Amino acid sequence: MRFGYSEDCLRHDPGSRHPERPDRLEAIRARLKTAHGVEYVEADPATVGAIEAVHDPAYVEEFREFCADGGGNWDPDTTAVEETWDATLRSAGLACWAASEAIAGADGRQTPFAIGRPPGHHAVPDDAMGFCFVNNVAVAAQCAIDDEGADRVAIVDWDVHHGNGTQDIFYDRGDVFVASIHEEGLYPGTGAIDETGEGDGAGTTMNVPVPASAEDGAYLAVFDELLAPALADFDPGLILVSAGFDAHRHDPISRVRLTTEAYALMADRARSIAEATGAGLGFVLEGGYSLEVLADSVAAVHETFDGREPIEPDDGLDERVEKRLDRVADAHDVER
Ligand code: ZN
Repeated sequence: MRFGYSEDCLRHDPGSRHPERPDRLEAIRARLKTAHGVEYVEADPATVGAIEAVHDPAYVEEFREFCADGGGNWDPDTTAVEETWDATLRSAGLACWAASEAIAGADGRQTPFAIGRPPGHHAVPDDAMGFCFVNNVAVAAQCAIDDEGADRVAIVDWDVHHGNGTQDIFYDRGDVFVASIHEEGLYPGTGAIDETGEGDGAGTTMNVPVPASAEDGAYLAVFDELLAPALADFDPGLILVSAGFDAHRHDPISRVRLTTEAYALMADRARSIAEATGAGLGFVLEGGYSLEVLADSVAAVHETFDGREPIEPDDGLDERVEKRLDRVADAHDVER
């Protein structure tokens, strides 16, 4: 894969006791040193205009001034330093780069993966939250529509937390499909099945909350039985994966039980859906807080695009998962 990366993203340092720390990118880079076919690209930072296309300009200015004044705790979870502003512009710029590359046809071993930080999917139009200041994947989706000629963009968020900011930004938009698979009851508490969009966006938000016991098979069933038909119907020109790695069974802040191989399998499913719909495909890093698991899981995604065939799991679906998927299928008129 081609990884969008910048050292600017290391300079956002919320403190050594914060789980979303610069070591995350260092761990990924160290793990990829031994991988075949890794290329790094340093893309331009996003412009303030690109960020304001999905965020309230007054909020963007407030955040800029907060950083210029030295930063601090925006809320109990979300901490900035002076360098966070530049890191954030760069993180959003890397996501835009991934979108642009994917639309231009970069696929296979050239598939783009933006590994910026801070992450973005909790950032709402007028506020930072959950370690996120600017919604990188939303900025990228909007760039794809405004600058790259995409008519429709789909965002698939497999981070263990609901991508509430991404949902809020596009909730009434018919040109951006936002799907989130997340652990039920976890932060930030949104993402119920009946949150499906409104107005022009009615039906273009898909939420799949899964019980904490969910394993690989549940996530793969979501791809095969819900996302594949829904996205075939939506017909996107671009699919962006909000790729968090905190649903892994060894991640310290969640209970969902994915294996490392699940990320290879989901990447493979995303690739199949992109091929079937003729869409470009790009990845944007979100969460993932065990350094070892994060690095191994990013490597598993990379290896999938480098030719390694992922191994299917043998776990079935338990009844609780089956019931959830039936309810999501009903909410979206999808046949399971
Ligand atoms: Zn997360």
